[in-house]
Amino acid sequence: MKITIFGTGYVGLVTGACLADVGHDVLCMDIDAGKIARLEAGEIPIFEPGLESMVQANVAAGRLAFTTDPAKAVAFGTLQFIAVGTPPDEDGSADLKYVLTVAETIGRHMDDYKVIVDKSTVPVGTADRVRDMVTKTLQARGEALDFDVCSNPEFLKEGAAIEDFTHGARIIVGTESERVQGLMRECYAPYIRRQEKLMFMEVRAAELTKYAANAMLATKISFMSEIANLAERLGADVEQVRRGIGSDPRIGYQFIYPGCGYGGSCFPKDVQALARTAADVDYRAELLTAVESVNQRQKQTLFAKLAQAFDGDLAGKTIALWGLAFKPNTDDMRDAPSRTLMEALWGAGARVQAYDPEAMKECRRLYGERDDLVLVGDRIQAVKGADALVICTEWKEFRTLDFAWLKQQLAMPVVVDGRNLFEPEIVKNAGLLYYAVGRGESL
Ligand code: NAD
Repeated sequence: MKITIFGTGYVGLVTGACLADVGHDVLCMDIDAGKIARLEAGEIPIFEPGLESMVQANVAAGRLAFTTDPAKAVAFGTLQFIAVGTPPDEDGSADLKYVLTVAETIGRHMDDYKVIVDKSTVPVGTADRVRDMVTKTLQARGEALDFDVCSNPEFLKEGAAIEDFTHGARIIVGTESERVQGLMRECYAPYIRRQEKLMFMEVRAAELTKYAANAMLATKISFMSEIANLAERLGADVEQVRRGIGSDPRIGYQFIYPGCGYGGSCFPKDVQALARTAADVDYRAELLTAVESVNQRQKQTLFAKLAQAFDGDLAGKTIALWGLAFKPNTDDMRDAPSRTLMEALWGAGARVQAYDPEAMKECRRLYGERDDLVLVGDRIQAVKGADALVICTEWKEFRTLDFAWLKQQLAMPVVVDGRNLFEPEIVKNAGLLYYAVGRGESL
């Protein structure tokens, strides 16, 4: 099949590479000429395990190409995937300007039947708005060409994007058209050989499914933040509680790790956007609002723990920070807890000495050169001459640590662990003051 993908971000590029990898001919279009030039030179603008080799192999095989030319992109595929960003607007709702611009582009250049596939996360009713935009643009050209719009939300996780795309639990397609069902079945056929995981449903249900899934996962995380904070105050160990509740199959172990809050490009904005959608239909989504505010508070706990450990005086202190990305295996720092912490530390006059295996470039891009931020080449250098250590991201390489060595490096033996990587007893026995999340230690 010939497939066009608008947007070469995390979702667009992974979708394009994976669909090319199973034999489709894919053309990826982006308005960012720099990004396209780098992709054409075989360089991957984001870090995502396995993506670079997959892109390079499929470009070499002639199945994957890149362009900034909208006319060429629209002419190429029968399926036109929209995988552009839907960032939050000022009021928290999803900003659809990029999605609707692509719809207009398609309307302007199409000259035969197209299926417009919404892969971006978009509020309920967006397919109708895309349809209206294409119709209006066609009318302005004096054309009345046939086209369809369907919803195909993406559930991949950054850091495991290829695995999720190729072996996801389900593929959701919102459409009532049999013709579209046939084309989408053909597109995804290589992924549904072992079991039928292609689920067709109404467009609005598909659009809402994506928000409901993310809001449910965010709810689990905020719920555990609440339990962890309670455990801390009650002198209970939340890790034992986690194991205790996770063993119930109705609850399960996934997404109940207590920590310093969720970040990333999806949960914060999608929870907010769904709450906004609720407000638009005069429904007070109390749970969603609480999920969001619990998370905001949780992202501030690392700073609060540090401030207490230093009796409220962090001015002039150097804090070692391990982990900048919002989670391991990605370089994404959008809404990362590390940012809340760093910004609070700078506000208090402290200096940050940070290391992340993948997000250093992104951190430099976000914050530029500044005196109170030193980015170092490994985790050892990060603690050299520091007063305390904070762990924000649970990268594998942070999971083992010589605590006696660490004690010698730090001016104050304070370790604040936002991901509960270690056994408190072991760390404390090495003479360190260890503050994790919800482990019976109220600081
Ligand atoms: P991103 O910001 O990484 O990439 C978006 C890309 O779209 C950018 O390269 C941008 O230049 C490009 N773009 C903007 N306007 C364009 C246009 N008119 N034509 C062509 N390209 C254009 O975004 P992302 O993280 O890939 O997310 C895309 C969508 O997928 C969002 O709606 C997001 O909520 C959703 N989503 C993201 C994830 C994730 O983990 N990142 C997972 C599931 C769903």
